[in-house]
Amino acid sequence: MPLIQLDKLMKHYPMGGTMVRALDGVDLSINGGEFVSITGHSGSGKSTLMHLLGCLDRPTSGRYMLDGLTVSNLSDRALAQVRNSKIGFVFQTFNLIQRTSAIDNVAVPLFYGRQSNVREKSIKALERVGLGPRSTHKPSELSGGERQRVAIARAIVNEPKIILADEPTGNLDTKTSEQIMGIFHELHQAGVTIILVTHEMEVAVQAERVIRMRDGKIIDDRNLDESSRNDLVSGNYAIPPKKSPPPIAKPVGS
Ligand code: ADP
Ligand code: MG
Repeated sequence: MPLIQLDKLMKHYPMGGTMVRALDGVDLSINGGEFVSITGHSGSGKSTLMHLLGCLDRPTSGRYMLDGLTVSNLSDRALAQVRNSKIGFVFQTFNLIQRTSAIDNVAVPLFYGRQSNVREKSIKALERVGLGPRSTHKPSELSGGERQRVAIARAIVNEPKIILADEPTGNLDTKTSEQIMGIFHELHQAGVTIILVTHEMEVAVQAERVIRMRDGKIIDDRNLDESSRNDLVSGNYAIPPKKSPPPIAKPVGS
């Protein structure tokens, strides 16, 4: 059974009398241990999909099965429980609490589940991302790359099965971005399922599988080998043509 299974997932937002179809019928399955990237233009629905995958929101319709459980219609409370036990988030803007130390930031997810050994677990997570010696620093005393490492440590402190990262290298220079990607590779090798949103194809092709979105739909989904990786980086891939709306039928007799 796949770890993640989406069937005809829709997410619509009302907007000034019309509906924005942020997700417009997404079917997707992801197995445990995969490293998947999701790419596509701004507004194509990537973040909406990540929010739903991360149980931060519910679909308008369709079904989401996560680890054998149908989560699309769970209560807020149950959804929060699933989220906290199975999923770690990493965001482009790090989303750290500014006034507190790295170690206290990392400890935040541990307070939902009344966990013991909070300090040890937090330090272990920081060490895993190479930040052990910086554990007492506040975000303002850390570089962008170090802040993102703190955020990754926070994401893994509960040992989730899945890491969801939305443009995690979007605010970082190339070298720092490579270091952050290195951490995702290590986590993947350790068995964590990684789903990463990026609009940079060079970053996307580091995954095993690349999904491309447009207008709330998946338009391409492929497992990568050496040649398809090169094709994607060089822009040499076939994208299905953008569908034009069907012609308006003339009324009979006109
Ligand atoms: P991406 O992350 O690919 O840039 P998003 O998932 O953020 O795309 O957005 C997809 C579409 O849904 C866009 O047209 C966006 O304006 C719209 N959208 C996203 N969130 C909301 C919201 N909370 N309310 C209204 N429209 C939204
Ligand atoms: Mg986005």
